[in-house]
Amino acid sequence: MIANPVPWPNGAKCAVCFTLDMDAESLLHLAHPEKAHSMVATASMLRYGPDVAIPRILATYRHYGIKQTFFVPGWCAERYPYAIEAMLKDGHEVSGHGYLHENPNKLSDVEEAYWLERSLTALQSITGQKTPGWRAPLYNYSHRSTDLLLDHGIAYDASLMGDDIPYLLQAAKGTLLELPSHWGMDDWPPFMHSLDLGMEMPIQSPARAWEVWWDEFDVMWTYGGLWIPVWHPFLSGRLARWHHTHQMIGKILDKGQVWIAPMQDIAQHVRACIDTGSWAPRVVDAYSSRNGARP
Ligand SMILES: [Zn+2]
Repeated sequence: MIANPVPWPNGAKCAVCFTLDMDAESLLHLAHPEKAHSMVATASMLRYGPDVAIPRILATYRHYGIKQTFFVPGWCAERYPYAIEAMLKDGHEVSGHGYLHENPNKLSDVEEAYWLERSLTALQSITGQKTPGWRAPLYNYSHRSTDLLLDHGIAYDASLMGDDIPYLLQAAKGTLLELPSHWGMDDWPPFMHSLDLGMEMPIQSPARAWEVWWDEFDVMWTYGGLWIPVWHPFLSGRLARWHHTHQMIGKILDKGQVWIAPMQDIAQHVRACIDTGSWAPRVVDAYSSRNGARP
C-alpha cells in the first residue's frame, strides 16, 4: 500500500512521534484581543496545558524512557518559560508554532515574514537553542511558508497532509523536508469544545479517540509509514484522556519494532537516507496551492 517506505532505523516497521502543540491562551488572545483578559474560565481551560498537563505528560515520557517533540508559539514560551525548561531538562525537542497562533493565510507577505521571525526569536530566547522544526498554527501553511522556513534554516515542516511518508517541498530557495500528519491523528475533532473559541465538537471518550488513532498507527506499522499524532496539552493532557494515552503508549511499545523519536531525529534520519541514496523521496511543488504559479 506504500510503494516506497523509508528504511527506518534498526529494522523498525514505522516511525512515531507524539507531537504536542502547547497553544495555551494564545488561541484566546488571537480570537478576542480586546476581552481575552476577562475570559477567565476559558483561559483556565487553556492554562491547564502548561500548568497541569505538561508535568503529567513529561512524567509519562520519563516512565517509558522516550524523547518527543513539543511545538510552542513564541508568546507561550515567553509566558510559560518553566514549561519549556521542564521539556528541555528531560531532553525533548521544542520547535516553532507561530507567535500568537496567527494564521499566515490571512497575512500579507511582510506580515507572515514578521510573525515567523518574531516566533523564532522569542522561542530561541527561551530555549537558548536554534529551532529545529515548524508546525503552522492550525495547519495554516501558506505558499510563502516554505521559502521563509528555509531562510531561517528550519530543517523540517510538520504542517501538511500530502502523504503517509516524508516528502520534499520544492521551493525557489531549495527543498524543505515535510513530515506529514492529518486530521485523523489530531485530538481537536474528538476533544475540542469551547463556546468562546467557536469550536463545539461533540466530545468523544478517550477510548473512541484511540480507536481512530490506533487504526491509523496500526496501518503505518503494517506498511512502513510515519505516525505523527497532533495533540494539545489542554485537550489530551486532561486526566481521563492522558490516563488512557499513558496505557496506549505502553501498548505501542509492547507491539515492538516501532521507532519512537523526536521529530528532529526523524528528519535527520530521513535526510541522511536521501543524502546517501538509500531512499528517494517524492518531490512536491511547494506552491501547488497557487495552481502552479510561482513567486
Ligand atoms: Zn496550535
